[in-house]
Amino acid sequence: MAICRYKTHDGAIEHAIYKDGRVCPLRVLGVELADDVDITQLGKQWFRDLPVPQDAHWVTAPDRLLPPVRNPQKVICIGLNYRDHAIETGSEIPTEPVVFNKFHSTIVGSGDNIVLPRVSKEVDYEAELVVVIGKTAKHVSATDAMDYVLGYTCGHDVSARDWQKGRPGGQWLLGKTFDTFAPIGPCLVTTDELTDPSDVRVQMHLNGETVQDSTTAQLIFDIPTLIEHLTQIVTLEVGDLIFTGTPPGVGAAMNPPRFLQEGDLCTVEIAGVGRLSNRCQAE
Ligand code: ZN
Repeated sequence: MAICRYKTHDGAIEHAIYKDGRVCPLRVLGVELADDVDITQLGKQWFRDLPVPQDAHWVTAPDRLLPPVRNPQKVICIGLNYRDHAIETGSEIPTEPVVFNKFHSTIVGSGDNIVLPRVSKEVDYEAELVVVIGKTAKHVSATDAMDYVLGYTCGHDVSARDWQKGRPGGQWLLGKTFDTFAPIGPCLVTTDELTDPSDVRVQMHLNGETVQDSTTAQLIFDIPTLIEHLTQIVTLEVGDLIFTGTPPGVGAAMNPPRFLQEGDLCTVEIAGVGRLSNRCQAE
């Protein structure tokens, strides 16, 4: 099942089943949820029990959606996790996952603007599959790791390259954590619907032109390996997000480099999840 959230005209929050750019509000199906509910806390069975909407119940999704995960405790990101992308950045192929994070204040939904900071001239795009954790996880083996995954969403790891690199100490965190730098959406797709994440197409369309196009089969460290690695270090909580890394084709690797400009429209498309679209706005 896939669920999205959005604001109605009167400011209430609607939860809806999402499919191919259309929605069916849960209240139409007789399912009531409080505005402030965190759907990641409801458990896999709750998603399994949702009724299947009839054809007549579907309407076009609003242009602007709320982030499908309301308030993740952690936003963890994996760097250089596609072999070809590591090569295009001139980096060595990592021998263990490269981990960094973003603050909550980076998260926006599909249809929200990405704000290009005044203090960066090199803001870049990165399309990524995002894992949503469904069960508290510590010291989990790769074999058991998928039991702890609730589902997936599309993510955009917006990156200010002039802050990420070349500053004292590297400053990956600052380069990755400007406000609005983690659009997610359009929906949360459960593992019952997207059953195998090991070969899923991940694309970035920039103003309609496809600039990244790969599959998660290219991941250096797959999702179970990432969960095993991370849970040696931190306890993953329900709703935590793991951005799994980006494929080749980022703007910094183009010749000449092509960084985001005001008005640019970035659309992350992931097969079986949907399309996450955000327009760039100057600060
Ligand atoms: Zn990334």
